[in-house]
Amino acid sequence: MKDIDNIQEIGFDLRSLTDEQLLNLRLCDLPLKIEGTSLEGRVKRLYQELDDRQIKFKPYVWLSAEWFTPDGIPGFAIPFYLAHPRLMRLERKFMLEVEGGSHIECMRILRHETGHALSNAYTLHGRRDWREVFGSFTEPYPDFYKPDPGSRGYVLHLNAWYAQAHPAEDFAETFAVWLASGEAWRSAYGGWPALRKLEYLNNTMDQIRGDLPANRVRRRIEPLSRLKLTLRDHYQRRRDHYAMEWPPIYDNHLFRTFSQDSHSTPLVSAAGFLQRNRRQLRQEVAEGTGLHHYTVDQALKHMINRCKELKLKVAIAESEAKLRATIMLTAQSLNAVHSGYPRIAL
Ligand SMILES: [Zn+2]
Repeated sequence: MKDIDNIQEIGFDLRSLTDEQLLNLRLCDLPLKIEGTSLEGRVKRLYQELDDRQIKFKPYVWLSAEWFTPDGIPGFAIPFYLAHPRLMRLERKFMLEVEGGSHIECMRILRHETGHALSNAYTLHGRRDWREVFGSFTEPYPDFYKPDPGSRGYVLHLNAWYAQAHPAEDFAETFAVWLASGEAWRSAYGGWPALRKLEYLNNTMDQIRGDLPANRVRRRIEPLSRLKLTLRDHYQRRRDHYAMEWPPIYDNHLFRTFSQDSHSTPLVSAAGFLQRNRRQLRQEVAEGTGLHHYTVDQALKHMINRCKELKLKVAIAESEAKLRATIMLTAQSLNAVHSGYPRIAL
């Protein structure tokens, strides 16, 4: 596959390194390539989907620190960890999930990035009708956005109502839904204002069908081979990005579920209880709300620390405490959405 980055030959085995050894490596030292990995098969499948729609454009791809399509570039970067199972394990350890780790999720993000790259390839976002449908492409990119979870003006594709993050994301998400779903989008979005966006997209694809794009730039922005920061610094930055606050009012919520009462029979500590159920609570709330696992886990971590400081105990049945903890965690995580949700780079 000539369009796929081939950085260097594998020089050493990442599988033999400990986490500490890996964290000391710089991104540019990682001996990775796309060829021969499951990523290669997924990119080929993406190209096939474009062929099936008679779209001549095929985005070129390369490895970098994260997912992104640079402005004006008809290709996109894929995060390095997807090119090696050992690095996916490290990613899961530090970020608690692997964005694009499963086949389905990876295909979703590949289609999304292809939307950006295709818009660059045919400079679609410069058209007046594009602006009328999606808004201004040049609107500043927010670090935080405040999605309306009930809106039917946007397609639902990636998590956290991502189409609402920016007009460019709205287009990319709409394209991804169109590419993935054959004709199913017509019924799935029947009656939604978002249908107009899909119809616009469908008409635009009819117009470019069979045309080669004018933009044939082949520039790789921030390729892995040029990234000098260590994996340790890389993960520190990403974790800071998803960190969240713990307003004092949340203590009141804790007192509704847990007790400071110490004179009854010996009780289980609330912190220990939450810790034991941490994985399940995080998973249920992250999947139920579409929020990033790391954001939910941050709320949970604060909750555990406050329970420790306040010496709270579980004074009700554990099943009831678990239900209340789930509701409390959902409310606090969604509160993070309403006060501004950190935009995932995608
Ligand atoms: Zn995007």
